[in-house]
Amino acid sequence: MKRYDVLIVGRGIAGNTLALTLLNKGLKLQVVDLPKANSPSRLAAGLYSPFTGKKTVKTWLAEEIFPFLEQFYRHIEQMSGFSFLHIKPAYRPFLSIQDYNEWTGSGNEENSTFFLSDNPNHEHYRPWIINPFGGIEYKHSGYVDTVAYLDAGEKMLMENNCLSTSFFNHTDVQETEDGVKWGDDIYRYIVFCEGSMVLKNPFFPNIPIVPNKGEILTLHIPDFPLTEIITKGAFLVQKQPGIFHAGSTYHWKFDHDEPEEKGAIEIKDKLNKWLNVAYKQLNLEAGVRPASKDRRPLMGYLNEHPRLLIFNGLGTKGISLAPYWAEELSKFIIHQKDLPEEVDIRRFYLN
Ligand SMILES: Cc1cc2nc3c(=O)[nH]c(=O)nc-3n(C[C@H](O)[C@H](O)[C@H](O)COP(=O)(O)OP(=O)(O)OC[C@H]3O[C@@H](n4cnc5c(N)ncnc54)[C@H](O)[C@@H]3O)c2cc1C
Repeated sequence: MKRYDVLIVGRGIAGNTLALTLLNKGLKLQVVDLPKANSPSRLAAGLYSPFTGKKTVKTWLAEEIFPFLEQFYRHIEQMSGFSFLHIKPAYRPFLSIQDYNEWTGSGNEENSTFFLSDNPNHEHYRPWIINPFGGIEYKHSGYVDTVAYLDAGEKMLMENNCLSTSFFNHTDVQETEDGVKWGDDIYRYIVFCEGSMVLKNPFFPNIPIVPNKGEILTLHIPDFPLTEIITKGAFLVQKQPGIFHAGSTYHWKFDHDEPEEKGAIEIKDKLNKWLNVAYKQLNLEAGVRPASKDRRPLMGYLNEHPRLLIFNGLGTKGISLAPYWAEELSKFIIHQKDLPEEVDIRRFYLN
């Protein structure tokens, strides 16, 4: 029987980030994952942006989370020899005077100088982007090539003999005074990072995860020189010269997780409001995001199973949330430091 600190179940963005965080801190761990074809972590555009949503509001904890994520991904690049972090400005055009007024009246500009370019060059965008009322340009935005990031994690975990590819069966778990037994080995903690598949996890009954289906397009746009991210209703991001990701849709009600043409039409309708060039659709994919009911991560344990932890609920923002919250979870695992109430899963189970 071998003794480990942690077993991580699932290696999407959440499990991969937690595994690399714990590996860097010298913990003894194992990771078990059975990847699925349409894993949201693999097909995600990987964008991170300090402003999001229809109303273009600054994201939760942006000042803490954004500097931390760039530092984290750069460190993993150096450790693995892979390249996947692309720090890029994001341009958000104003499409109407009302749109412009809403932004200037929001107070965001005064509170967000760290995240905004002083004088965006609207002419730079104008031949390709419809921006009659100008726009704003974000700093500390960009994207992570999620396939390369997961591949880098695979390499690092394989080198440390801590990754296996198989399905984890919850009935194989035995909770003891001493730790949690799984197979022949014993772990101080198991952390479930199962994405939307957590809905089948018997240790977290009635978990407040709401699956959210999203579609994403791959487009060919020849002779389109902008390498910045463009975002307004839909986003457009260059992946290789001439090849772009555009997305996404957000469906709370769906019968299956296959991509649907109506999703492609919805994305194109939004793009066509500001994109001034012809493009060709190369691919359409869909995946299911694990969103939580209050849009905050779900972390920690339930009182009945103190050694069975969860790291989930990253929703639409896996890339920006995962590094910061994996670090916080590592402090709980190593130093028993309490998790902030706003992410502790017990907030939904108390009373
Ligand atoms: C179209 C689309 C676009 C997106 N774009 C972005 C974006 O631009 N930026 C951003 O930050 N986020 C984006 N997201 C959201 C992002 O994909 C999610 O936040 C993230 O993938 C969640 O990661 P996860 O690790 O929690 O879950 P998952 O990616 O679902 O990973 C869970 C893993 O656990 C495995 N697993 C589960 N149960 C078991 C078991 N019992 N045994 C073995 N393995 C198991 C699964 O097979 C999987 O590999 C997008 C999502 C979609 C659908």
